[in-house]
Amino acid sequence: MTANYNPQEIEKKWQQRWAEDRLYEVTENSPKPKYYALTMFPYTSGDLHIGHWYAMAPSDVHARFRRMQGYNVLHPMGFDAFGLPAENAAIKRGIHPFTWTMQNIDNMRRQLKSIGAIYDWSREVITCLPEYYRWTQWFFLKLYENGLAYRGKAQVNWCPHCQTVLANEQVVDGFCERCGTAVSRRDLEQWFFRITKYADELMQHDGIDWPERIKTMQRNWVGKSTGTEISFALDHPGVAEKEIRVFTTRPDTTFGVTFMVLAPEHPLVEKLTSPDKKAEVEEYIARSRRQTEIERLSMEREKDGVFIGAYATNRLNGEKVPIWIADYVLLSYGTGAVMAVPAHDERDFAFARRYNLPIRVVIAPPDWQGGKLEQAYIEPGTMVNSGKFDGLPSQQGIEAISDFLEQKNWGKRTVSYKLRDWLISRQRYWGAPIPIIYCPNCGIIPVPEKDLPVLLPEDAEFKPTGESPLKYHQQFVNTTCPKCSSPARRETDTMDTFMCSSWYFLRYASPHFEKAAFDEAKVKYWLPVDLYTGGAEHAVMHLFYARFFIKALRDMGLVSFGEPFTRLFNQGVIIAEKQKMSKSRGNVITPDAYVSELGADAVRAYLMFVAPWEQGGEWNDSGISGISRWLNRLWNLLTEGYGEGVKVSPEEKQKAGRDLSRLTHQTIRKVTQDLEKLRLNTMIAALMEFTNYLAKAKEEGAVDLSHWKEASDTLLLLLAPACPHIAEELWQQTGHSYSIHNQSWPRWDEELAKDEEITLVVQVNGKLRDRITVPASITEAEARDTALNRQRVKSYIEGKKIIKTIYVPRRLINFVVR
Ligand SMILES: [Zn+2]
Ligand SMILES: [Zn+2]
Repeated sequence: MTANYNPQEIEKKWQQRWAEDRLYEVTENSPKPKYYALTMFPYTSGDLHIGHWYAMAPSDVHARFRRMQGYNVLHPMGFDAFGLPAENAAIKRGIHPFTWTMQNIDNMRRQLKSIGAIYDWSREVITCLPEYYRWTQWFFLKLYENGLAYRGKAQVNWCPHCQTVLANEQVVDGFCERCGTAVSRRDLEQWFFRITKYADELMQHDGIDWPERIKTMQRNWVGKSTGTEISFALDHPGVAEKEIRVFTTRPDTTFGVTFMVLAPEHPLVEKLTSPDKKAEVEEYIARSRRQTEIERLSMEREKDGVFIGAYATNRLNGEKVPIWIADYVLLSYGTGAVMAVPAHDERDFAFARRYNLPIRVVIAPPDWQGGKLEQAYIEPGTMVNSGKFDGLPSQQGIEAISDFLEQKNWGKRTVSYKLRDWLISRQRYWGAPIPIIYCPNCGIIPVPEKDLPVLLPEDAEFKPTGESPLKYHQQFVNTTCPKCSSPARRETDTMDTFMCSSWYFLRYASPHFEKAAFDEAKVKYWLPVDLYTGGAEHAVMHLFYARFFIKALRDMGLVSFGEPFTRLFNQGVIIAEKQKMSKSRGNVITPDAYVSELGADAVRAYLMFVAPWEQGGEWNDSGISGISRWLNRLWNLLTEGYGEGVKVSPEEKQKAGRDLSRLTHQTIRKVTQDLEKLRLNTMIAALMEFTNYLAKAKEEGAVDLSHWKEASDTLLLLLAPACPHIAEELWQQTGHSYSIHNQSWPRWDEELAKDEEITLVVQVNGKLRDRITVPASITEAEARDTALNRQRVKSYIEGKKIIKTIYVPRRLINFVVR
């Protein structure tokens, strides 16, 4: 009598043993090829939930598979520990963010260990510790040294709830990405990274295997458009500026400009506004400042604006064009000014209708009779009302007008990007201090490298006030200038935490290296990351920043590669009760309870089985029970021993052995290919089918012991990445030596995996007409199609109607025709 499957007992036992034996620790001194499998590290904002497991368990399965395939696999884990969620939670609970974060890490580490992954814990990184952020600050200095970090005044995204500035990437449709509050605008002196320098390169994804939708999102985020910048003349007494420049992708419509629109914040507005319009303009500006970007850009909202009492001149036709302000034009996009062509732009059309501004057609629609337009015509057409350019097709017109403007020096062809530089200053406490000193004599002075880290003081008041908490910490603020030794002040903003996560994957290569951010030789060995997995929500933030960061380091000669992640895979989302899990809905699935009831192996296998990994699926209790029952069946199947049947003929035995061997090799092939492609649901299904077949074979007893051994050993080896604990235990119980995780991945023999072939007789009206060789597993529909495609069969059927098909599996197919 053998013991029942007891996951609690065996999982604890093996996790302890693997840790004691340091089974998963890796070094660079290995004859095997390297494989760097990385899962996005978690925020330390609280408990590990099932979404974390969904990100981590399947990627561990893949990493284990690579390990068994003979790779030297680095699969590290760490914690993204700075940032708002930790700070906000700490404030709510009245404890220090450091204490709260480290408590969370302890808990999350314990939970992560319960997954049974191959994480090499000796390489753990925690971004809020000085030994880590010292190097985050060092990278800041490198970027500064290389002209990629600069301080500038900017209108910034401001989250009134989080009380901090947000990067453009953290504003989703005008709302704070973290808390969902509508974002407003503020003017502040801030630090930026010159990410726009890499705009073109960031749009390209050559040589990397990334999902198409992520590449598209990144390209759209860069938002490159080719067009022409056109100068409109200004002639205002007392105003130094003699032009307003606008960017357009449709210079062919320039003769149709009937007004211009500036962003309310445009610096020329104050200078150009006529005295009689002043009150109205100021009121409008005050109102638009209260608007969020989402309100300003909303399609539903009617576009409004104010005429400022000034004009510019369209140099192409000498016409005076009235200047308006409207808040649908943003200062941060393009030049902050647009030329309005209501006949050929929907937004301008609506605006012109509202304020009774002229609408002049300059691109004739195909069947246009010269009448008024009912809506903007935005397609190409023939140029009209455009002086000497009349009659040109608009595509040609774009070139002709651009040439003409360039000749006259009234404009130039240019490329415009939606991408803005990355704003990294945060007016919050829980982040890495920006290593900069302001000296009254010397100006901006970077902290010397030898003085790093600039420590985050533990005793600062960190409640959000809208100002940097460090501003009020006198010991922190007051320092001396490293250059002239006069009293100076420290920068009191901290860095965006996306800066911490832009390089953590480099630190794993040499996590305890003290002389530099990383050991060059080790980074050279491990990087780039071979497979990076995580959520698609990081497309234009983390994944974008990390690429920028590596390109900048490459150009500084610090690394020798230009892309951090060779292959990217985004998992889907696990939902419950048909909805996204959330605390407020009360439908959050916590893994701990399932782990202690059914075991980590069951949770791992269920998460893989529930749906294709990239799609995500719905958590279902009866689903995981089914998985648990499978593991119990498998346990009993392999622990109870195998007895060959006695009344089996040698022929039967031979056939049964051949059949089992065939399925064994087919299963190796299927599971291997599924793991390569991360089709983990069908991999589990194949393992279940294989288990069922073995159970049947055992009952019949026709298979000899050697075939049985081959099959059952293979089942365990194929199961090892998905369910590492039960596989290890059964490996031992079936007489093998420790550890299954050091075994080689089984290989399949294409010959043995080949489907059995049979000969099928083809009859027409009961007469033998052909014989076809087909796989034994062929279905009726496949047999029918194959037979009907044969020339010989066709000749008997041509011109006749099939009224019936008779199919005898493995024997014959008969077409009754008339
Ligand atoms: Zn917020
Ligand atoms: Zn100085």
